[in-house]
Formats: sequence, C-alpha cells, structure tokens
Amino acid sequence: MDPFAPLGRTMDVGSQHCTYSPGDIPANDCGETAAWHILWDPNGDAGLACGPHMGTARHRFVFVDVHRVGPDCNMPGTAWSFDEKRCIYPGEPDAIAAAAEMPAREAIA
Ligand SMILES: [Zn+2]
Ligand SMILES: [Zn+2]
Repeated sequence: MDPFAPLGRTMDVGSQHCTYSPGDIPANDCGETAAWHILWDPNGDAGLACGPHMGTARHRFVFVDVHRVGPDCNMPGTAWSFDEKRCIYPGEPDAIAAAAEMPAREAIA
C-alpha cells in the first residue's frame, strides 16, 4: 500500500476544516472542524484533519510532523514551527530560526 497520502487538489486557504476527501472529489470532502494540522512533506504541503481522520492518517500514511490546529494554522503567510508545534507568522522572533531548520528536499532524496 502506498505510504504517501494522496495530496489531491488544493483546498480553501483560510478554512480550518478536515481536508480528508476520498477520491479527491468535493462530494467526499469530510468538512468537519479540523483538530490536527499535518505536514505531509518538507516542501510545506500540509493538510488538516478531524480527530477520526487523524487516526486514519496515523495508520495509513507517513508524514513529517503534526500539531494541534491553532488560530494561525492554514492561514496565508504562516510558517510551520517544528519546535513550537504550531504555525507562526514569519517575523515573529522565533520564526526565522524555525524556517531555517526546515529540512531541504535534497536532504531526504
Ligand atoms: Zn475528517
Ligand atoms: Zn498549523
């Protein structure tokens, strides 16, 4: 079984709803309020999951990192903070250091 989650189409930016969508068609969108923010790969492709679908993701797929959805998750201009386990706006004091620690794609290829 493919361990990588099918990323599918780009979902609405700014909503914090579960992006689980079997077959990647709108009729199958979960749409529940998301509880978890999942970083699928080091390039920054991320998704949002409700509780049950986070369980699905943990069982079925590999991912880089995950944290609880906060107010800044999935908002334009935010960056993933591994250290703080949340999304932050670059320009906050800790953001630049966190961004610098993002693993380069070449590092895992
Ligand atoms: Zn869901
Ligand atoms: Zn987040």
